[in-house]
Amino acid sequence: MLWYVPMVGLRNIHPFLPLLFTLILAILVFLMFSGGLLLVFTILRGKDIFLSHKLRGLVAKVLFPFMILMGRLFGVSKEKVKQSFIELNNHLVRSNTHRTRPNRLLVLLPHCIQDFECEIKITGNVKNCKGCGKCEIKDLIELTDQYQVKIAVATGGTLARRIIVENRPEAIVAVACELDLTSGIQDSYPIPVIGILNERPHGPCINTKVDIQKVKGAILDFLEPQGVTTI
Ligand code: SF4
Repeated sequence: MLWYVPMVGLRNIHPFLPLLFTLILAILVFLMFSGGLLLVFTILRGKDIFLSHKLRGLVAKVLFPFMILMGRLFGVSKEKVKQSFIELNNHLVRSNTHRTRPNRLLVLLPHCIQDFECEIKITGNVKNCKGCGKCEIKDLIELTDQYQVKIAVATGGTLARRIIVENRPEAIVAVACELDLTSGIQDSYPIPVIGILNERPHGPCINTKVDIQKVKGAILDFLEPQGVTTI
């Protein structure tokens, strides 16, 4: 229908226009199919085949809004679509084998991971934490110290953006909920971000948790072999 209906009208304007229209449509369909195939093969192989960094941008800017639209049409929740987007992004980042020096890798955490009753201000400087162990900030500081990577806590998107501008990281390991991770991944492009969903045993935005092993895995995915400290 997309092809046939305009063809009828275009023929009335100029006999050459239907051919031009068919050609443009064929190129668009070819690009869509090759992009889709490239995406599938890159994910299946887990290695960069061709332009996977560009694919990441395409997924963030074009495919994600399309996924949301499709999700709405087929009754898939926004949360599930966002989880798929984060997974897809992580696969593409890992397949591109980005390597960075430890001092250019940033672990960005949400404020809600800090114990709700802790009165220490860690947003300006996470190292203010006294290491009491009531929340995972202590473990995350120890982990980032071990690999000599940067760590920061953000209370929201605006502060997260400021931290990124100030630290100028080459890569980011971000922990957050679906909403903040999807917008963070989109806003940070072209900086590669591995997103790790937080766990919310007490509901959203309070005393959230994260799987430390997943954070460690993501750090190791980014570090140059020579930058890794022996455990
Ligand atoms: S580990 Fe640090 S941030 Fe968490 S409750 Fe203890 S002092 Fe506060």
